[in-house]
Amino acid sequence: MVHIPHKMSSKTANAMALQHRPRKRFGQNFLRDTNVIERIVDAIHPTGDDHIIEIGPGQGALTKYLLPACRKLEVIELDRDLAAHLAEGLQKEEHFQIHQQDVLKFDFDTLDAEEKSLRIVGNLPYNISTPVMFYLLKYQHLIKDMTFMLQLEVVNRLAAKTGDKNYGRLGLMVQYHCQVEHLFNVPSAAFTPKPKVSSAIVRLAPHPTLPAPARDVNCLKLVIRTAFNQRRKILKNSLKSLVSEEVLNTLPLDTSLRPENLSLQDYVLISDAISNSDRND
Ligand code: SAM
Repeated sequence: MVHIPHKMSSKTANAMALQHRPRKRFGQNFLRDTNVIERIVDAIHPTGDDHIIEIGPGQGALTKYLLPACRKLEVIELDRDLAAHLAEGLQKEEHFQIHQQDVLKFDFDTLDAEEKSLRIVGNLPYNISTPVMFYLLKYQHLIKDMTFMLQLEVVNRLAAKTGDKNYGRLGLMVQYHCQVEHLFNVPSAAFTPKPKVSSAIVRLAPHPTLPAPARDVNCLKLVIRTAFNQRRKILKNSLKSLVSEEVLNTLPLDTSLRPENLSLQDYVLISDAISNSDRND
């Protein structure tokens, strides 16, 4: 049976909110708009079977909704004061655990979790959101899905399709591993203090099996990086340092295209051709 505890009392939540001065270096923009918070929780759609990991719970804006709705909630919060406040309010909840730690140093393999079971959520500190996503991809064997609040500009890049102006390295490398869904935008007015940029909610779900597996993912990264470093050049010119025109010409793709016009599958073809020719050298 799932244990459903009481919500955090509004007195505790208010006391926490009043005493804390937001720390810029930790990217602290706290969600205040109840409608937005409820919309995010609806999008996460927690169930009584879920094991949720929340990154940066802050003053508990999402935490207090997630806690009564899931089987286990673990939060990772770097700010010692906020972690202490949360612990004070919630330590009695048996299925709640706080890790006062930097998420980028947290070893997710130490969690008691089955393959593809963890649901990761977080209104991420924007200054470290990209490193956090790539860090989590190392643990994708454990992850079912990730729902994040990010800068709108980052979400646009994550969800960009071939040919879009935001299409590039970030989108390609994340889409290699995950299905990406831009859920909705969130106005700055929903936070205190207000961030200078617009925000959006995105869901990343690691593919059960990779749709376009590369022989060597590091080679794929290098090809994509090299192509997009010279965005205006056509492919056969920008990739000269990595692959000969003869090898490129054996592939079923147009090498006079610019990098934004090639699909993930095209990049994998090029990367595999390079890995193959390296092996035959
Ligand atoms: N979830 C809260 C909300 O929506 O109101 C707070 C979100 S605030 C944008 C980001 C949170 O991440 C802050 O609580 C901050 O202290 C925490 N944080 C910043 N850097 C972190 C890190 N490296 N590891 C874990 N938490 C971090």
